[in-house]
Amino acid sequence: MAGGGDAALQRRTGVWWDLNTCPVPDGFDPRRVRGCIESAVHKQMGHRSKVIIYAMGNLEYISSALLEEIASSGIVLIHAPCGGNDFKNLLREWSQLNPSSPATTVMLISRNYTMMMTVNEDEPLCICDICYDTFEICAEFITHLKSEEHIKELSGIVPRDSWYCKPMHFCHVCNYPGYDEYNMLLHNQSEDHCRKLDESRKRLISLPRETSLTSYVLNESNKTFLSRKKRKDKLY
Ligand SMILES: [Zn+2]
Ligand SMILES: [Zn+2]
Repeated sequence: MAGGGDAALQRRTGVWWDLNTCPVPDGFDPRRVRGCIESAVHKQMGHRSKVIIYAMGNLEYISSALLEEIASSGIVLIHAPCGGNDFKNLLREWSQLNPSSPATTVMLISRNYTMMMTVNEDEPLCICDICYDTFEICAEFITHLKSEEHIKELSGIVPRDSWYCKPMHFCHVCNYPGYDEYNMLLHNQSEDHCRKLDESRKRLISLPRETSLTSYVLNESNKTFLSRKKRKDKLY
């Protein structure tokens, strides 16, 4: 960044970029995103400021190559699929991490209008909001998102069915608990899931057609049915 001086650098703008609802456009070099956001901010504000950019959302299903490219351009990665879209929480987190230099402007790039976020650019590069873990090396963060440890932590916070205490959203193919329908949708569309689904279809080709290989959602009617069935069973 040329010019501007110290005064400009004391003005800070926190930009929170929702990678799930606003992905990098096809054919666009991900390493150029940072520069584009910075110029858009300067143009919008009419003066220069220090711009800190956070790419957030459910990062489990974003390709490793893309995450590496985004991180290498100096954008901070934050995996926050559960509650990461609560604007107030995120702003509170920003001010806790930057007590001496709060952002003067916050910008949101998202199609989900309920979100926002920011932190310190000297802080670690990648954050898992599920495990409260931070990583300075992007590759370690990516490995973490696929680790058993991370899935175990996720499993501990996902909503569960009150009758069987099983996760409300669960993929039996990958043994993956989802936080909500949207995260389950991201999971079901992911390369990992499709590959595993393919493999298990090949392996279990002899199973009856009704066998569920994809995720289930235990909805109200299922629950009612199950509890009725249980009560009826007791009568005999
Ligand atoms: Zn984690
Ligand atoms: Zn799956």
